[in-house]
Amino acid sequence: MRYFIVYAHPEPRSLNGALKDAAVQALTAAGHEVRVSDLYAMGFKAQADADDFPARDPAARLVYHRASGEAYASDRQRADIAQEQEKLLWAEVVVLQFPLWWFSVPAILKGWIDRVFVHGLAIGVPKEGTRQWLRYGEGRLAGRRAMLAVTTGGRDGQFSEHGINGPIDDLLFPLNHGLFHYTGMQALPPFVAFQTVRATAQDFDQMRERYITRLTDAWRNRPIPYRFENSGDYDANGVLLEEVVDGPCGFRRHCA
Ligand code: FAD
Repeated sequence: MRYFIVYAHPEPRSLNGALKDAAVQALTAAGHEVRVSDLYAMGFKAQADADDFPARDPAARLVYHRASGEAYASDRQRADIAQEQEKLLWAEVVVLQFPLWWFSVPAILKGWIDRVFVHGLAIGVPKEGTRQWLRYGEGRLAGRRAMLAVTTGGRDGQFSEHGINGPIDDLLFPLNHGLFHYTGMQALPPFVAFQTVRATAQDFDQMRERYITRLTDAWRNRPIPYRFENSGDYDANGVLLEEVVDGPCGFRRHCA
């Protein structure tokens, strides 16, 4: 299988660095192909701004999504963006690996998402012969599986149903649903290592084995069963139909 790991940690000797290295080693040894974007090591540009479009008229007002769509359609994107898109399209399994920073991804990874998932590729793709869009279950990235691999400082219970941080699945909903599912990829349940700040070597060994198992089982495990936008569960405004609004409240309503 072809794995693409997007890794965001500034320190190669970190726990995250060790997990990423172990994953690459294990997957490669098992015969898989692995590509890694180590965003800090690459010095990946995090800001989505006018510098992304050297060919555009600098006097014109920047509308980022329009400019990115035009650059994508006319093959005039910056090389760093095009290279990341090529890796995404190459991959069968996409993994975003990062430490949870302020309940979210490190800024460099957010920048990678903002700049790489452009109009025409990840958003703004019409569904031929209809008035619908290819999104939320359909899209140019369909046929791929995607998984978040996250380490936290906080304890397991703090991210549970009644935990003070909120349920981890809710915190990760914007990425699992708003990025992976939106662009057509099947989101796998995340790999989460809680309370890592004082992890021992023994904790690390268990974490590493769990991570490798989750990666190698990527096509065996069941993805999160998010509803498809064009499945008939939503009205024309993207609102869940009354008859399907039963069961748990919150983000889980978007699971079938
Ligand atoms: P490291 O700091 O590199 O290592 C953690 C521990 O693992 C160390 O004690 C290290 O000795 C040990 N270790 C064991 N085995 C190994 C090995 N083989 N290699 C390397 N180290 C090993 N946490 C939250 O829960 N919620 C938040 O919102 C949040 N926000 C944050 C915001 C910022 C800006 C920062 C800096 C931290 C935040 N944290 C938060 C904490 C953060 O999520 C953790 O510090 C992080 O997940 C730990 O991963 P790391 O790779 O940085 O670990």
